[in-house]
Amino acid sequence: MPRRAAFCAALFVTSVLPLFARDYAARPTVQKVGEGVYLFTSSRHGDVGFVGNSVAIFSEEGVLVFDAGCVPSDSATVLAELRKLTDKPVRYLVNSHWHWDHWQGNQTYKAAFPGLQIISQENTRLLMRDVSVPRTQNDLKELPPYIASLEKDLAAKRAAHASEAELRDLEQLLQADKNFLAQKQSVQFTYPNFTFAESAAIWLGGREIRLIHAQAITSGDIYLYLPKEKILVTGDILVRPIPFAVGGTFPADWIATLQKLIALNPEVVVPGHGESEGARQALEQNLRLFQRVVQEVRNAKVQGLNEAQTVEAIGKKETELAAMIGITDAQLLPAFKPYFLDVFLHRAYQELDHSLSDLPPAAP
Ligand SMILES: [Zn+2]
Repeated sequence: MPRRAAFCAALFVTSVLPLFARDYAARPTVQKVGEGVYLFTSSRHGDVGFVGNSVAIFSEEGVLVFDAGCVPSDSATVLAELRKLTDKPVRYLVNSHWHWDHWQGNQTYKAAFPGLQIISQENTRLLMRDVSVPRTQNDLKELPPYIASLEKDLAAKRAAHASEAELRDLEQLLQADKNFLAQKQSVQFTYPNFTFAESAAIWLGGREIRLIHAQAITSGDIYLYLPKEKILVTGDILVRPIPFAVGGTFPADWIATLQKLIALNPEVVVPGHGESEGARQALEQNLRLFQRVVQEVRNAKVQGLNEAQTVEAIGKKETELAAMIGITDAQLLPAFKPYFLDVFLHRAYQELDHSLSDLPPAAP
């Protein structure tokens, strides 16, 4: 694990997901994934913020943006890129779920487009207020001492005459983390002003845009589907390269959701994090993995294993299970258990006894 894994796993879970490159440039990458449909991928925030995806759907009557990024600078850089591509206003902003990295850039769009409709599933709005905000306030307390520890680390390395390259890496990381803290401090919690329970449809400039509720990683997930163009935007129902189970997870419903998404037979799939290319296959791989894990949990329970024993026994198969979704890389493999398998196993076992609570077992 990276040296700061303990901090990251508890708080931000970022170091190995999904990009390794030390690229802290403020500019997002832009990719056209369909006619008038663009994917923006934000850059890293040191080792304390996610790389994530926002999708913009253009029309004659305006733009819909799906997910707003980690912090206001993410949404500001996406908006700057958007303005190069269209002069139409953003009319709708969708937050796929309550995790902070999908909605805490909302304020940028609201300020630029005062009539904006910010849309989420109704559970998500409550979870933003009751879970995401207190956790963010806690992050704001934990980030400064973490940054101070990096500064100490840097001073010690300077004193020990570490190589120039190592010092430069650490200096860049420190600056990126400081920028991120300043961004977190500037977040004005900007909640959805339109919520729905099961599904919504938006007809925008001749496009049909479907928003559909699922309970997969959280109780208020939304995925977006363009039926005519067969483009699917999954939010964190699909995260690549490793599914992210830490902030919730409803195994049976997640499996049912993956089955629904695959049945749509989409031509383009855009995940919440990670690449669009190959994402359709990743949906299928995730489905097979989840089904296998749930089956193993059932078998363990039948054999009389308790929850902790089940997690331990199946956890020993991490290498084999990770390979089912193509994770064989020695750098990625250590993240498979903490980000996916451990939480998924606990929740799958608990689900056999009772329905699961909304509240996830750990941050973000
Ligand atoms: Zn996310």
